[in-house]
Amino acid sequence: MKIVLAIALLICGTASAQKSISPLESLFNEVTPKVVEWRRYFHEYPELGNREFNTSNKVEETLQRLGISTKKIAKTGIVAVLKGGKPGPVVALRADMDGLPVEERNGLSFASKAKGEYNGATVPVMHACGHDSHIAMLLGAAEVLSKIKNEISGTVVFLFQPAEEGPPGDEEGGAALMIKEGAMDNPKVDAVFGIHINSKYDLGKIYYKPGATMASSDWFTIKVKGKQSHGAYPWNSIDPIVVSAEIVQALQTIVSRNIDITQAPVVVSVGRIQSGVRANIIPEEAMMEGTIRTLDGQVQKTVHEKIKLIAQKIAEANGTTAEVMIDTKTLVTYSDPVLVAQSLSSLQKAAGGSDNVQLTNWVTGAEDFSYFGTKAPSFFFFLGARDPKYPSFSTAPDHHTPGFMINDTRLDVGVKAFVHLVLDYAKTTKK
Ligand SMILES: [Zn+2]
Ligand SMILES: [Zn+2]
Repeated sequence: MKIVLAIALLICGTASAQKSISPLESLFNEVTPKVVEWRRYFHEYPELGNREFNTSNKVEETLQRLGISTKKIAKTGIVAVLKGGKPGPVVALRADMDGLPVEERNGLSFASKAKGEYNGATVPVMHACGHDSHIAMLLGAAEVLSKIKNEISGTVVFLFQPAEEGPPGDEEGGAALMIKEGAMDNPKVDAVFGIHINSKYDLGKIYYKPGATMASSDWFTIKVKGKQSHGAYPWNSIDPIVVSAEIVQALQTIVSRNIDITQAPVVVSVGRIQSGVRANIIPEEAMMEGTIRTLDGQVQKTVHEKIKLIAQKIAEANGTTAEVMIDTKTLVTYSDPVLVAQSLSSLQKAAGGSDNVQLTNWVTGAEDFSYFGTKAPSFFFFLGARDPKYPSFSTAPDHHTPGFMINDTRLDVGVKAFVHLVLDYAKTTKK
C-alpha cells in the first residue's frame, strides 16, 4: 500500500515538474547525458599537446553535425562560429583539449590506456587535468546554443584549444598560436570566457576571483661555469656545485626579503639541478631549472631582474660566470572586474543560487587562457568536481597525478554557465 502511494506521488510529482520546465531547461536535460558520454570518451582516448588529432576530428564532426561552421587552427585547434538570428556582440567560449604524460591509476572503468610520445620516449597519456570535461561542456553548450540560434543576439565563437599544458619541445602551440592565427579577430571577439574543472572544490559549485586569478608562469635556466679538477684537490677548481648551492639559497630571499607579499603571492622554485658524472671529479658546469609564479606584471619584472642579479653576482664573487635564461610560458590570468560583476547572475543561475558561486583565493597555477585576455575582456572561473568519496579539499587527489579524478555528475553547471553567459552578455552589452 505504502509502495503504491509512493509511486503515485512520484508520478504526480514528475508530471507537475515537467509542466513547469522551460524550453531551455529541457534542452539542458537533453544534452547532459551526452556531455557525460563525450567526457568519458575523451577521457578514455587522451592525446598530448599539439597531437590532439582524433580529439580534434571528433570535436569538428560533432560541431558540423550541429550545423556550426568550423575551421582548423593552430595545428589541432578548432575555431567554430555560430551566428545568432539577431545582431549583437561576439562572445568567445574556450575549452582546452590536451592530456598529460601521466599514467592513470584511479580504477575508473573508462581509464586511459593510451600511449604517446614525449621528449622522444613512449609515455602513458592521461587527461590528468580534466580537459576532457572542458571539451564535453563546451560541446554541450554548442549543442544547446545551436538549437536556439534564432534567439541569440550576436555571434558565439567556440575556441577548442590544443596544448594548454605547453607544446612539446620548441614547437609553437596553445592559445598564443591560436591568437597569432587570428582566432580572436574574425569575427572580432568582445568578451571571452573559460572554465577549469577542479578535483578538490565542492561538487557543482563555481569559484571565481575578480582581477588577477591565476599566476604567470616563467621557466628559468641558470648555467654556472666552473673549472674542473680532481675531487681530491678542490683548490684547483671553481666548483660549480658549491656556487649553485649558494645561488639556490639566495634565490629564496627574493620572495622572503624583496617582494611585498601582502600585495600578491610570489613563488620561485628550483625544480632541477644537474651537474657532474662521478664522485671524485669536480665538474666543469652546473645547470639548474626552475619556475616563477607571480600575480602582477611589475612583480614579475622585479623577480626576473633579481634572479639575474643574484646568479651573476654570486658567480662573480666565486670568480666565475652564470648565464640566466628566462622563458615566459603564460601571463597572469586576469578576470576583468566589470565583466565579472555583470556575469555573476549568469553563474548563479547555472549553479542554482548565490550560495553555489563563491569567491576564491589566488591560484599560483598558471593558464595559457591568459593570452586570450590580452585580446578582449576575459573571465576565467572554476567548477568544483570533487567526488563525494573524498570528504574534503585536502583529501582529493591533485591535478596532474595518477589518482586524479573528477565527478562528472554536475557538468551541466558548466554547460549552463556557458549558455547563460552568452545570452546575458548580449542583454547587457547592446551593439
Ligand atoms: Zn588544466
Ligand atoms: Zn593542468
